[in-house]
Amino acid sequence: MARTDVNTLGEFGLIEHLTRNFPIVQPETLKGVGDDAAVIDNGTHLTVVSTDMLVEGIHFDLAYTPLKHLGYKAVAVNLSDIYAMNAFPKQITVSIALSNRFSVEALEELYAGIHAACETYQVDLVGGDTTSSPKGLVISVTAIGQGDRDLLCYRSGAQVGDLICITGDLGAAYLGLQILEREKQLWQENPQIQPDLENQKYVIGRQLKPEARRDVVEIFRKINLKPTSMIDISDGLASEVFHICKQSKVGALIEESGVPIHPEAEMLALKFKLDPITCALNGGEDYELLFTIRPEDVDLIRFLPEIYIAGEILDAKDGIKLNTKGGNLHALKAQGWVHF
Ligand code: ADP
Ligand code: MG
Repeated sequence: MARTDVNTLGEFGLIEHLTRNFPIVQPETLKGVGDDAAVIDNGTHLTVVSTDMLVEGIHFDLAYTPLKHLGYKAVAVNLSDIYAMNAFPKQITVSIALSNRFSVEALEELYAGIHAACETYQVDLVGGDTTSSPKGLVISVTAIGQGDRDLLCYRSGAQVGDLICITGDLGAAYLGLQILEREKQLWQENPQIQPDLENQKYVIGRQLKPEARRDVVEIFRKINLKPTSMIDISDGLASEVFHICKQSKVGALIEESGVPIHPEAEMLALKFKLDPITCALNGGEDYELLFTIRPEDVDLIRFLPEIYIAGEILDAKDGIKLNTKGGNLHALKAQGWVHF
């Protein structure tokens, strides 16, 4: 039998490949694989479901991640996918696999974080599974939410001429990770050393305790705005713009000057000899929202705090482009985009 390395397909290629032979057979399944969450028709309401898994050594490092923060983050990043559908999460299930390295007290810390997230976002923990692992900790959270038939937002709804909007700021979580990794290395070399985290509190907070943008979805309801498409920014802006463009069959122009970056992130990027826009495009773990609106809706959001217009949807044949602050047009790449 042939042996194909999974790297030849990449994450999204692999998912497409493995799920290609699963036609939807239930009429209630409105959306299967391919968006931030699946959508199930339950008559009066739509049920929205999303799962994310965090693996020790891949997604988190307990050398610098307090277990309480980890629990909070595991929940928040899942809820982010539900909000990205313009829906509200209601319940979660939490499954853990753990080695005997973890004590009851350690797991209580993890669950204190899960509890705090349940309180913040008003969701109920309704189940899960517990099993052992040979090494390390794995946490899988499933979020179940409720959406309105007329208000749900898919990745596929963007149309030529729509404005591309971004919430909050991008790139900070990635820089927070760089700092934590660096401090870990320094500490391993010299355990006596005291980390100096002054001027880095914002980016470290963005890495260790991300929040899902419930507030933004609530604002959409208040101002009566339905985005034409939406996705949460978990893998960097570039990757998410590609998802929207692919599923909406459109192109896009992103203005570098419209991409929000926190001043602390900007400063630290330069200190690490990184371009701040590269951190925003390719960094990941920001858990902000990327959404598109019809141009006639622009006045609804123009003066809202933390919502920024960062570009425009183009025809597919125009491609996906970045207009830099210097006025150069670059083809945007989902990964490995380099600043010349
Ligand atoms: P997100 O980054 O928004 O959490 P992912 O990139 O993890 O989304 O997943 C993209 C889509 O593929 C989602 O619809 C998800 O449910 C689906 N998916 C991911 N992994 C699998 C899998 N192993 N089997 C079936 N569907 C999957
Ligand atoms: Mg998502």
